Amino acid sequence: MANPNDPTLRSWIDIPPTSDFPIQNLPFGVFETLERGTRLGVAIGEYVLDLYAVAQFGLFEDLELGSKMPKVFRRRSLNQFIALGRPVWRAVRQRVSELLRHDSTALRSDEVMRACLLRQSEVEMLRPVKPGNYTDFYSSIEHATNVGTMFRDPNNALLPNWRHIPIGYHGRASSIVVSGTPIRRPNGQRKAPDADAPTFGPSQQLDFELEVAFVGGRATELGSSVPIQYAEDHIFGLVLFNDWSARDIQSWEYVPLGPFLGKSFGSSISPWVVTLDALEPFRTAGPVQEPEPLLYLRQLDAHNFDINLEVAIQPENAPQTVVSRSNFRHMYWRMAQQLTHQTSNGCNLQVGDLYASGTISGPTPDSLGSMLELAWKGTRPIPLADGSERTFLLDGDTVIMRGFAKKDGVRVGFGEVSGMILPAVQ
Ligand code: CA
Repeated sequence: MANPNDPTLRSWIDIPPTSDFPIQNLPFGVFETLERGTRLGVAIGEYVLDLYAVAQFGLFEDLELGSKMPKVFRRRSLNQFIALGRPVWRAVRQRVSELLRHDSTALRSDEVMRACLLRQSEVEMLRPVKPGNYTDFYSSIEHATNVGTMFRDPNNALLPNWRHIPIGYHGRASSIVVSGTPIRRPNGQRKAPDADAPTFGPSQQLDFELEVAFVGGRATELGSSVPIQYAEDHIFGLVLFNDWSARDIQSWEYVPLGPFLGKSFGSSISPWVVTLDALEPFRTAGPVQEPEPLLYLRQLDAHNFDINLEVAIQPENAPQTVVSRSNFRHMYWRMAQQLTHQTSNGCNLQVGDLYASGTISGPTPDSLGSMLELAWKGTRPIPLADGSERTFLLDGDTVIMRGFAKKDGVRVGFGEVSGMILPAVQ
């Protein structure tokens, strides 16, 4: 059986070289149309492969994946499919790869093709998973250093625990929405440092945070922990994640218990989940961890992933401007370490949980992952293509994040996550 990641594979579907979805990617998502209802699909070029329709033609039958198999392809989230386990995700991705390969004829009659392939422009993408839990980490050393420099001590920016623990907090799962969903500017309580008393009203410091999140692929029992060498077995795949943040609300409320209403008004995720299997060729070594982490977090080999990321801001009726270019490989703490640390106290994992990386800032001024850093606390306004400038987001602005990995001529991409800011409720 050919490896679905083989860079020489070609599809019988015409795929533009700039597409995020070549035959080597095959990310999973959930889509809806009036005629079909909700279905699980795989992105291929400009199309969606309807997995339920493929199953109806008996093309998964010989895989003997169990009686739940066709039904899970009609659900409103990937959760039940993911819960079937890694051997099932791998078998389905392998079969889809075979069906789409240039020399396969199984899908190519008019009738089968009409039933199984839809243009992405003709479907509505839904939130791919129903997350029971959401954790947000704080794993970029550049981001943590920048924030520490701005708000505390430039000479001692990292708190003493930072290099020992993948710092995180438990976020709000119910307000995670799919790309394209507008985000309402939050109202909240804030107090300027020189003001005598707090006030209540629309946030004046609305920001994005460029992050990547992984989707939990395997549940664990309460009271058990996942050893570091097995941590990646619990990861289904990755999405782009925008952790919208109201800095004025956040800076007034976060002491002493951390982020709360400055974050929970909305977080956006991209609709296609790129499997960890598809990202295997893009593994790379991350930053050196110094001092060496405690034994339970210690890991050899390459556990970072080389994924190019960018953020663009598009004001209403104006062109977009790319304001940041970063890379997921800069992360100091890796996904496996985050997951193992999360379970080290016996906390249980659920399928579909989301674990976001924390803002991904790189080492250069053009690779910072939030407006707070790009405009350095409002002191260096960001110029946009339409002649305007920003220190924080305005109503009508759309923030668009994109990501892709590239090697050996193969581009494995995430598509995008976008959201437009709506005015606050008055
Ligand atoms: Ca964050």
